[in-house]
Amino acid sequence: MPISDEFENRLSPRLRDIAAHYGTPFHIYDETGIRQTGEELKEAFRSFGGFREYYAVKALPNPRILQIMQSMGFGFDCSSIAELQMSRRLGARGEDIMFTSTNTSKAEFDAAADGDGCVLNLDDISLIAKVAVMPELICFRYNPGPRRTGNDIIGNPVESKYGLAHEQLMDAYRTARDRGARRFGLHTMLVSNERDQAYMVETAQMLLELVEQISAELGISFEFINIGGGLGIPYEPGEEILDIRSMAAGIIEVFDKFRERNGYVPRLYMESGRYMTGPHGILVTSAINRKETYRTYIGVDACMSALMRPGMYGAYHHITVAGKQGGQETVDVVGSLCENNDKFAIQRPLPVVEDGDILLIHDTGAHAQAMGFNYNGKLRPKELLLRSDGTVELIRRAETLDDYFRTLEFEPDVMRTEP
Ligand SMILES: *Cc1c(COP(=O)(O)O)cnc(C)c1O
Repeated sequence: MPISDEFENRLSPRLRDIAAHYGTPFHIYDETGIRQTGEELKEAFRSFGGFREYYAVKALPNPRILQIMQSMGFGFDCSSIAELQMSRRLGARGEDIMFTSTNTSKAEFDAAADGDGCVLNLDDISLIAKVAVMPELICFRYNPGPRRTGNDIIGNPVESKYGLAHEQLMDAYRTARDRGARRFGLHTMLVSNERDQAYMVETAQMLLELVEQISAELGISFEFINIGGGLGIPYEPGEEILDIRSMAAGIIEVFDKFRERNGYVPRLYMESGRYMTGPHGILVTSAINRKETYRTYIGVDACMSALMRPGMYGAYHHITVAGKQGGQETVDVVGSLCENNDKFAIQRPLPVVEDGDILLIHDTGAHAQAMGFNYNGKLRPKELLLRSDGTVELIRRAETLDDYFRTLEFEPDVMRTEP
């Protein structure tokens, strides 16, 4: 999907200056757009009251972006020690943080319990025994297996590594209760990039039904349900936008019915990443080579290190060329990695691109830079923030070769082993 007209209008007149000042490639994020999306999300749930978004840090782990989330009252969903540390350095404490790890290690449990701790969201029943001190508040991640269908990116729930099986859930809460937990939450995350609002309403319904069953059997009550992230954005032109208001209205209705039956409702948590920031980022890259063989290749100065999604999932990212219109020729837009998946677009109609042209690769505000890697010794680019006051701020410098070689600086350590 072309980025919003507003972002385009904010960026276009400044683009050449920004590119000249900072040099390409870079991701640039739109503070105004991020705030608008956050405010719309809050507004959609305002009548419900007990709503909170926990921004999925892995989508765009940059402190300046997380500060914007904080200023809107959001918490953080973390799933690694680095994400916990980043959130805590910004002052997030205790219940501002959900820790939704998978295949959790001892080191991760220790980090989660540090300081004021966080909301622990356990991914398996076997982990209960591995929590050193059972916190007062505990949450489990539920996997409904054959009861629900997933979608392409995250896969079929039966094959998914996440969460507890249906049959384990009751035991898990009973054990946690017996080990001292007093406050409870229930979490699931079944889809990724899902634009069908009905699916999220069904998920809320499913969790609330489980809450009723578990409460009735164990005599515990639930403080919250967390319906996960996974809200979709339109990457391709013409794709429909997720109707957040109608989704919220549907969810609120499900909660109202729960209230009628039970006399109370749990809070509602969500942990969106992509929906919050995806459309508010652009990878800006320059054309550096044009190659004509069996196809026409436009070589740019960014590569998979800045954006893996096309190579990894065959994902579509819209591309425009600054100052040019139309689709006069069909090209592959490629990076410099010695890996044939390193293509931002395959057989895409674009205006005729010449060396020096600036290409805008859209929707890189989530799971883009963060997913980048150093294969082939390729470095990740810098990140910029287009602030609401019109100024531009460097919010992460580009990786350097010194960064790359740093892991080769260490004390020699050679051992002799006897067979
Ligand atoms: C990745 C992830 C998210 C965010 O997913 P989006 O598709 O970006 O909304 C949320 N919660 C958990 C547990 C995740 O692993």
